[in-house]
Amino acid sequence: MMTDETPAPTDFIREAVEEDLKNGRFDRVHTRFPPEPNGYLHIGHTKAMTIDFGIAQDFGGKCNLRFDDTNPVKEDIEYVDSIKEDIRWLGFDWEDREFYASDYFDVLYAWAVRLVKKGLAYVDDQSPEEVSLNRGTLTEPGKESPYRNRSVEENLDLLERMKAGEFPDGSRVLRAKIDMAHPNLNMRDPVMYRILCEPPHHRTGSKWKIYPMYDWSHGQNDSMEGITHSLCSLEYENHRPLYEWFLDQLDVFRSRQIEFARLNLSYTVLSKRKLLRLVKEGHVHGWDDPRMPTLRGMRRRGYTPEAILEFVHRAGVAKNYSVIDVALLESVVRDDLNKRSPRRMAVLKPLKVVIDNYPDGLVEEMEAVNNPEDERAGTRTVPFSKVLYIEQDDFRESPPPKYYRLYPGNEVRLRYAYLIRCTHVVKDQNGEMTELHVTYDPATRGGDAPDGRKVKSTIHWVSAAHAKEAEIRLYDRLFTKEDPEEGEEGFVACINPDSLTVLTGYVETHLATSQPGERFQFERQGYFCVDPDSSPDKKVFNRTVSLRDTWAKIEKSQPRK
Ligand code: ATP
Ligand code: MG
Repeated sequence: MMTDETPAPTDFIREAVEEDLKNGRFDRVHTRFPPEPNGYLHIGHTKAMTIDFGIAQDFGGKCNLRFDDTNPVKEDIEYVDSIKEDIRWLGFDWEDREFYASDYFDVLYAWAVRLVKKGLAYVDDQSPEEVSLNRGTLTEPGKESPYRNRSVEENLDLLERMKAGEFPDGSRVLRAKIDMAHPNLNMRDPVMYRILCEPPHHRTGSKWKIYPMYDWSHGQNDSMEGITHSLCSLEYENHRPLYEWFLDQLDVFRSRQIEFARLNLSYTVLSKRKLLRLVKEGHVHGWDDPRMPTLRGMRRRGYTPEAILEFVHRAGVAKNYSVIDVALLESVVRDDLNKRSPRRMAVLKPLKVVIDNYPDGLVEEMEAVNNPEDERAGTRTVPFSKVLYIEQDDFRESPPPKYYRLYPGNEVRLRYAYLIRCTHVVKDQNGEMTELHVTYDPATRGGDAPDGRKVKSTIHWVSAAHAKEAEIRLYDRLFTKEDPEEGEEGFVACINPDSLTVLTGYVETHLATSQPGERFQFERQGYFCVDPDSSPDKKVFNRTVSLRDTWAKIEKSQPRK
C-alpha cells in the first residue's frame, strides 16, 4: 500500500517506454485506451486511462480512443456515448482519434486470408465443446483437429462462406495453426473468428456473420493504428506470445504490449459483468447509483474528477496484484472536498427546540463563514428565530459520561448564534420527546459570554420557520466484506442491507436554490451533493462521504517505515 505523499517520479512502464525511445525501438509514443462498450466505465478504468493518456502526454505522444466492439451480443451504442462522456469528465482528450475495432473488419479479414494462404490458419469444423476439450491442459498437450491439414483452397472457400453467413453459429471457426503441444495454452491453435449470424452489430449492421476474437483483433488494430505501446492489465500477460506471433507472421508494424496490475479496491467489485448483475437484479438503482464504483455513480455521489485522479495516482502503477483500501479513496475525496465545499447547516434527524425567552416574531440574521479553508468564499447570513431544529443526537435526557452537548441544565453554543441552556423536555402520551425547551442569553450573540464562562460544545441548527425540508440519502459501503468475492456465496450474498438510508431533514434557506451536482459540507455531518432527483420544492442530497476520517486513524496506527 502506498501512503507516501510525494508522488513516485516514474514507474516501470515509463521506464520501459523511455528505454524504447533511447535504443531506437520507437521514435515516438502512441498509446490507445480500448474500452469494450459492454458497460459503463468504473474507477478501475481510470487507472488504465491515467496510464494510456498520461504516458502519451508525458512523452509528447498521442492516445487513441478505440472501442473494442467485436461482440455484438453484449455491446450497445448506449455504452459508447456514456463512455465518451465519462472520459471527457475526467479531462482526457482523444482529439479526433475515435476509432472502432469494427472500422478494421475488412482489413482484418484480408490479414486472416493472408495467414490462410501462408498455411498458418485453418477452418475447423469441430464443435465449440470439442475445440475446448481437445485443447489439453497445463500438464497434457492438446489434440490436433482432424480438419487441421485442409488445403489452402478449401480453407479459403470455407472462410468466405462463413463470412457470407452460409453456416450456423458454432458450426465452424477459423483457427491459427501454431502448436497444439505448446506449453502456453493460448498458443494451441487459438480461435480467430467465430460465427455470429445474430444480432446485428451496432455499427456494421448485418454485414458480418463472423466476428474476431480479442486475440485476433486487438494486436492487429494496434498495429494498424501505429500504436507503439499497447498497455493492458495483467490478465493479458499470457497472451503476449500470441500477440507477438500474429504480428511477426503478418510481418506488419510491431506494437509492444506491456502489462500492469489492475486496480482493485476493498469492499468493491470492479468488473462490468458483475456490476451489470447488480443493476439487473435490482440491488442498486442503476449504473449511476451513488453506491456504484462507476464514474457516473461516483459523479452522482459528489466525487470530483480531481479527487478520483489523485486517488489513482496515489495508488500507483505496479506490476503486482494488490488491493487498495477503499478508505484511502474516501480520505482523498474528503481532502479534496474540504478545500472546495461551501459550509452549510443542515439537520438530518430533527429535534424541535423552543427558546422560551426569545421574542415571538423576531428574526435575526447571523453571519456565517462559508469556508474556513478559503477566505475568498466570504460569509452569508442565516436567519435565527424562536423555534429551531437541532440534531437528535445533540441532546440526551440522561447524558452518558463525557457527553458535553445539550442535556437538561447544560449550556451549549449554537453555531454563529447564542449560548442556550436546556430547561425541560416535552413528551407525548407515548413518552416520545416532541420538543425541547431552552433559554438563551442575549448577551452571547456571536457565541461568547461577556463574563468569560465557557461551554464545551457547539452544535448546529436551522430556524424552523425558514428551513427547507429535504431528502437526505446516506450511503454506506455496498458490501460488508473487505473482499466481496471471497468464499463460496459470491458477492451478492454480502451486499450491505444498510448501504442506503433515506432521511427527511431540514436544510438552511440558502440551499433552496442549489443545483444538481453542487457540493456542500453540512457542518459536523459530512460532504453532500445535490442529486438530480431534486425538484424546485424539495432538494435531494447525497452524502458523498462523512467527516470522520477512518483512513487517518488506520494510517496513524501503522508503524512508520
Ligand atoms: P471489466 O472486467 O470491468 O469488464 P475489462 O478489462 O473487460 O474490465 P475493458 O472495457 O475491456 O474492460 O477495459 C478497457 C481497458 O481498461 C483495458 O485496457 C483494461 O485492461 C483496463 N481495465 C479494466 N479494468 C481495470 C482495472 N480494474 N484496473 C486497471 N485497468 C483496468
Ligand atoms: Mg475486456
